[in-house]
Amino acid sequence: MFLFKEKKQASQCQNENCVFCKIVKKRCGRIIYEDNDVLAFYNIHPQAPVHFLVIPKKHIDMVQNVTTKDSKLLGKLMYVGTMIAKNIPELKNGYRLLMNNGENARQEVYHIHLQVVGGTKLIYPKHIKNQPKRSSTTSSLSE
Ligand SMILES: [Zn+2]
Repeated sequence: MFLFKEKKQASQCQNENCVFCKIVKKRCGRIIYEDNDVLAFYNIHPQAPVHFLVIPKKHIDMVQNVTTKDSKLLGKLMYVGTMIAKNIPELKNGYRLLMNNGENARQEVYHIHLQVVGGTKLIYPKHIKNQPKRSSTTSSLSE
């Protein structure tokens, strides 16, 4: 697997009780990518053949709590996730990018993270009742 590294800054870890801040600080886990703002690593409990996370080094507990200052950082999470995905052959036919916000979305770690999942044909979660109908003019992610 490839590994990008840029010059590191002093740790921006702000919450010593946060598991993702610990990963940022100790750089443990299967790290895929790192720069001054973000860190990407494989999920230790993968939900698909490929499942990695992209997190900001800055501790932000929930997406709903981002500020205007964080908007570039949110975009960077998507950009980095996509850039990594382009280099993983198992994702060439598609993948899902998702962020959970809060208890009802089953957010497990309260440090925002973009999940990139793929490597198989993904289905919609069962709770999504009205899956889009396939037609000649629309495409569906449910295949
Ligand atoms: Zn954190």
